[in-house]
Amino acid sequence: MDALSCALFPDICVLCGDPLARLTSIPVCDFCWTQFPSLADSPDYSETHCACCGDLLSAPASLSSAYCRACRMAAPPFVRAVAYGLYDTQMRDAIHAFKFDRVRVLAKPLGRMLAKSIATLKSDVPDGMLIVPVPLHRAKRKVRGFNQARALATAAVIELRKTNPEWQLSLAKRTLIRHKQTEPQAGLSPRARRINLRGAFVVEDIAAVQNKNILLVDDIMTTGATARSAATALIEAGAASVRVATLSRAITTHWRKLAGDGTLGEIENKGTRKMDARLGHNSQNAIVH
Ligand SMILES: [Zn+2]
Ligand SMILES: [Zn+2]
Repeated sequence: MDALSCALFPDICVLCGDPLARLTSIPVCDFCWTQFPSLADSPDYSETHCACCGDLLSAPASLSSAYCRACRMAAPPFVRAVAYGLYDTQMRDAIHAFKFDRVRVLAKPLGRMLAKSIATLKSDVPDGMLIVPVPLHRAKRKVRGFNQARALATAAVIELRKTNPEWQLSLAKRTLIRHKQTEPQAGLSPRARRINLRGAFVVEDIAAVQNKNILLVDDIMTTGATARSAATALIEAGAASVRVATLSRAITTHWRKLAGDGTLGEIENKGTRKMDARLGHNSQNAIVH
């Protein structure tokens, strides 16, 4: 193949490194695509996950509470958060490739997964919902070249307009902005994350959100500090309600253990380095929200 063909039709899977069996513009093999289980398909999901934020419950919902400790202590400003899958090995590598290694063609298949998680809200979401991607600070967007949340939201809206046209979803333009450049979240405690993100977002176009049901979209949800901060700004600007949909969910007990023993950053960096080795170039360290 010549250089152009190699760029258009990669021959190695960016997730497992195996050769791709067929010509495709998306550098992920058929086997790896089977490794993205949907949380909505797990039979005991509502018994094991918080009914509001989707975090893993410490005890079954039927024996204790349907809500996690964090939601019981301080109810989030959003009605509910859903995610397509767990932020585990395969998902983490795919997001890294998309976000930090700029494998932009992954927006479409990952956006389709996000669309599936948004569709799980169908029964309790009114028509005419406004989709608001979580914004990046302009300095970060300049370095990265794009906002991964907007790219995923755009792909998801295209998919949902086909599958659920009656929903009349619209994608917000420059409605919410991130005017505070925050410290990297990886390794911070939930409280430190909340302080770090306090007042980070501002609604630029108040008329666009007033009395609207909003769906906030992002690639990852970890402690929910980003979602809480962005949803607060939207509610204070007059939004009727805010729901959250993310491509992936990092379970708090898992990341807290990693953050506690100092291995979270290490694991994040290792994932990136593994990807660098496959793609043969440098990428930035990951930042978990
Ligand atoms: Zn593969
Ligand atoms: Zn919760």
